[in-house]
Amino acid sequence: MECNYESRLLMGEAWAIRDGTNVRFWVDRWVQGCGPLINDTARVVEPIVRGRMICEFVTDVGTWDYSLMEGYLSHTKLLYIALHRPPARDQGENSFYWTFEPTGNFFVKTAYCFLAQVGWAEEDRVWKSIWSCRGPQRVRTFLWLAAHARLLTNEHRARRQLTSSALCEGCSCGQETTLHALRDCSRAQAVWRRIVLQSCQHDFFIMPLQRWLKCNLSGSDDHWAATFGIAYWLLWNWRNNDLFEEGFMRPSDKCQAISRVVESWKVTGDSGRESAQLRKCWKCIGWQCPPGPN
Ligand SMILES: [Zn+2]
Repeated sequence: MECNYESRLLMGEAWAIRDGTNVRFWVDRWVQGCGPLINDTARVVEPIVRGRMICEFVTDVGTWDYSLMEGYLSHTKLLYIALHRPPARDQGENSFYWTFEPTGNFFVKTAYCFLAQVGWAEEDRVWKSIWSCRGPQRVRTFLWLAAHARLLTNEHRARRQLTSSALCEGCSCGQETTLHALRDCSRAQAVWRRIVLQSCQHDFFIMPLQRWLKCNLSGSDDHWAATFGIAYWLLWNWRNNDLFEEGFMRPSDKCQAISRVVESWKVTGDSGRESAQLRKCWKCIGWQCPPGPN
C-alpha cells in the first residue's frame, strides 16, 4: 500500500518548550494537538518571519505576544498556544518528546502499534469501498491490486530491476506510478476530463491514491462507481496493449468505449449472459382441454 510511514511517525514527534531558543514558531511541531502552525494559517507567513524562534513571540514581561500572531492564526489556535507556558531563559533547553507515550520516550512498540492501528483503519475503509462498489468482479479485483500499488507500472518494474527506466513511456513526463498511469498521464487525463464533472475536477486530480479510490467508489451514485471502476480498468488495459501488443489501436472515442462496457455490464452482470431478472417474463397459463377424438 502506498503510505508514508515516516511522515506518520513524525506526527508523534513534538518539542517541549522551555527557553524557546532553537525551535521555530511557525515551522516546527510544538503546539499540543496541532501540526506545524504554518500549515494552518489564515494568510501566508512571509519568508522573512517564517524562521522566527518561539522565544521571539514573548513580551518583555514574559507573556505570549499575541500581536505577532494576529491575522495569521484562528482564535482556536491562539487558545491552544495559551495552554503552553511562554518560554523563558531560566527554564533550560527545549527537548523532543514522543507524544504517543505518557513518559514522552520513544518506544518501537508504541510506534508499531500506532502505525498498525492507522494502517488497518485506512485499509479497512478502502477494502469496504472496493468490495461494496457496483461493477464487474474482475474490475473490483483490479481495483484492489491498484489500491495496494501491485500494478506493474514502470516505477514498480524499475524498483524490481525489470527495466532500466521508471519513466512513463506514454508521455515521458515523469515516473510511471499507479496514479500517473491511471490518472495523471496526459492520455488518462484526457479521458477523465471528459467524464468527470467540471466542478469536481480540481479535487479529483489532487487526491492521493487511497482517498481518490475511496471517494469515487463509496459515494451514493452506483452508476458513477461502476463507470469509474470500468474506466480505471480499461485505461490500464489500453496502456498494457500499447506496450505489449503490436499494432494495437486505442478506441477513437474512449468515453464511448467506457460507456459501452458499463451498459453491457448493467445488462449482463458478471455472468456475461443475460441476467435471470431480465429473462423473466409473465405468461398467462391455464388448463386447456386436450384434443379428444371427435
Ligand atoms: Zn505519462
